Amino acid sequence: MTLTEIMQTLPYGPAPEAAQPAMDWLKAHKGRFQLFIAGKWRNPASREWFATINPANGQKLAEVALANATDVDKAVKAARKAFVEWSQTRGHVRARYLYAMARQIQKHARLFAVLETLDNGKPIRETRDTDIPLVARHFYYHAGWAQLMESELAGYVPVGVVGQIIPWNFPLLMLAWKVAPALAMGNTVVLKPAEFTPLTALLFAEICQNIGLPPGVVNIITGDGQTGAALVEHPGVDKIAFTGSTEVGRIIRRATAGSGKKLSLELGGKSPFVVFEDADLESAVEGVVDAIWFNQGQVCCAGSRLLVQEGIAEKMYAKLRARMEKLRVGDPLDKAVDLGAIIAPVQLEKIQRLVQKGVEEGAKLWQPSWAVPAEGCFYPPTLFTEVAPASTIAQEEIFGPVLAALTFRTPEEAVRLANNTRYGLAASIWSEDINLALDVATQIKAGTVWINSTNLFDAASGFGGYRESGFGREGGKEGLWEYVKKIEQHRTAQGQSSARGLTARASAESLPPIDRTAKLFIGGKQVRPDSGYSKAVYAPDGRLVGEVGLGNRKDIRNAVEAARSAQEGWRKTAAHSKAQILYFLAENLSQRAEEFARRLSEQTGQDGAAEVEAALEALFTAAAWADKYEGLVHPTPLRNVTLAIPEPIGVMGILCPDDQPLLALARLAGTALAMGNTLVVVPSPLAPLSATDFYQVLETSDIPAGTFNIVTGERDELARTLAEHDDVDAVWYAGPRAGWALVEKASAGNMKRTWTLPHSGPLPDTDEILRQATQVKNIWVPYGA
Ligand code: ADP
Repeated sequence: MTLTEIMQTLPYGPAPEAAQPAMDWLKAHKGRFQLFIAGKWRNPASREWFATINPANGQKLAEVALANATDVDKAVKAARKAFVEWSQTRGHVRARYLYAMARQIQKHARLFAVLETLDNGKPIRETRDTDIPLVARHFYYHAGWAQLMESELAGYVPVGVVGQIIPWNFPLLMLAWKVAPALAMGNTVVLKPAEFTPLTALLFAEICQNIGLPPGVVNIITGDGQTGAALVEHPGVDKIAFTGSTEVGRIIRRATAGSGKKLSLELGGKSPFVVFEDADLESAVEGVVDAIWFNQGQVCCAGSRLLVQEGIAEKMYAKLRARMEKLRVGDPLDKAVDLGAIIAPVQLEKIQRLVQKGVEEGAKLWQPSWAVPAEGCFYPPTLFTEVAPASTIAQEEIFGPVLAALTFRTPEEAVRLANNTRYGLAASIWSEDINLALDVATQIKAGTVWINSTNLFDAASGFGGYRESGFGREGGKEGLWEYVKKIEQHRTAQGQSSARGLTARASAESLPPIDRTAKLFIGGKQVRPDSGYSKAVYAPDGRLVGEVGLGNRKDIRNAVEAARSAQEGWRKTAAHSKAQILYFLAENLSQRAEEFARRLSEQTGQDGAAEVEAALEALFTAAAWADKYEGLVHPTPLRNVTLAIPEPIGVMGILCPDDQPLLALARLAGTALAMGNTLVVVPSPLAPLSATDFYQVLETSDIPAGTFNIVTGERDELARTLAEHDDVDAVWYAGPRAGWALVEKASAGNMKRTWTLPHSGPLPDTDEILRQATQVKNIWVPYGA
């Protein structure tokens, strides 16, 4: 045998990491863990316990407490009590605690890594080199934000008590993503780890004790879905942060609807991995390995759909199969293993079921020639080719080591296929042509796009989804907004808006002549409402001042269709041109200022001239921001620029408040337009005439048809249709409290973003509106010759 032959055939020997430190720690606790509430360990009120299992060998590791609603209540109360002082604690002091956490995690990195691998089944190489270092980095990074909060987030305060629910795929990392920003911003937390992987969270609780974190600032309660549900429903919780399945995310969206709780959801994905024919194929193959076989593919942003340009598809598959043949599946504690165990038998069965479905639907299956260990929960790396775009394995999240490959011919087709999903979490693009890669990156609807790279994470870069992948960002400056609110909650949250309308209607008999009935404004044209009906509009003193069309579901649908058709064009319109159009709107409004002022005074009894002035100023502000609302370049490690770019959300429904109807229209709709959204606006039912008069202003400006649509009618009826509509990406609803619940519940269908506002009182500040009108996409661009 030659030396070369020996080198090529050399088998791997076992290289196990010792389980001992973790086993000793479990033993020291006699294999049983209580709940961590108010800085103390307590037995669960339920008196129930459940086992946590090592998926690599099926052996029980420990028993943990099953928290019930009583336990949840205790933990929330402890967090509330602690909030009083913690929220007043100086940023520097909070920074010291977060720094201490980071240090402790680093000092105990080995124990954390081994414990995580035992509990979750992921390879020690990943826990040691990825999970735990990123956890430490997250605490360091947020220690910095705690320090800087006073100066950099002036005017903002913590939200309060935060309920955090995390999944099993990155147990400690998800804890860090949630706990670090929450504490940095002065909140207190109740965290529930996933039932399959509670152990590292419990070790983290010990760290909180060891560093002397004030009791109640962090509470860790173990349990199952019911525990999570009790936390979500607890009235003492001000915000819920959830990472997990879209299915449970939807339940949580509905459960919190109308409660006033702030919510962030990081859900599923079916991320595209796009390879163009000029890509460096060797690197792309390594990229695929990382995209779909990292953590056994149990990653929400896994690159589970491989889109390859036709000309290189066979070559790419051949390279991939050769690489797959060399992957190693086995004991997760073995340092030379690539894929560890699947979390649990139930997940393994789900993978097997979906793979079977893929075969039945006609895709071609390929797996390496070797077998996975018979004991424990293992599944081999799997490649499907000849996958139809609409098939189950191309659409459903498998959450396992299964890759579905499809081909495309042109960049346009690549974008179309990439966006052919309900999700929008991440994407990876491979091409040596940076023009092409960046062009495609801006067109793919996903919260994170990696160019010639994949699965890069860092505390400085926000992570989160578009569409059914959820909303809110974790990490980066953009992630902090989830954990703060404006100091002055000057916008009151009370309810009934219709009092004025009711008293007004009573004296509707003594009418002045009616001038005309305004129609709806859809697709750049004035159109009659589908119902053919109209609705009277009264002044505060009861006089009839006009009539407007009574829009219905059909009108909303038409308006949404118009807004969707206009979306692509408006989004791509240069920021400078958007600004010009908004200035032009202002100019045309100012020409008719007197007429608008009169109309406003009639409808509201207030100083109309002052409101027209304020509306003009709001349009100017929106125009100003159109080309100035900048993103950030995050200083992530590696040779890399990470571009955090605010993008429009898409098609938005805006239901306007009752006060200052013209100003509200200008401020809310103007800002949303400036950011590249196309709109379906429902004016206040009490004062819609300024909006209908605005048609003529729109008609004489250069605003493209379909960009700005206006439908008058019953607010809640139209709100429901907008919130339920699958082609609407966000709904802003200013109206009575009951409507908040309606909109938030109905939005769960496609997980659209919602923003609920009171029907009257001051309007939100522009910085908040800008944030609500955009979502941040992080594009990672590594460089190096
Ligand atoms: P995964 O598919 O990643 O397990 P799940 O969404 O099922 O995702 O679980 C994620 C987390 O949500 C876990 O901590 C789980 O206990 C919790 N959970 C499950 N059902 C509910 C529910 N109805 N309400 C709140 N939390 C829940």
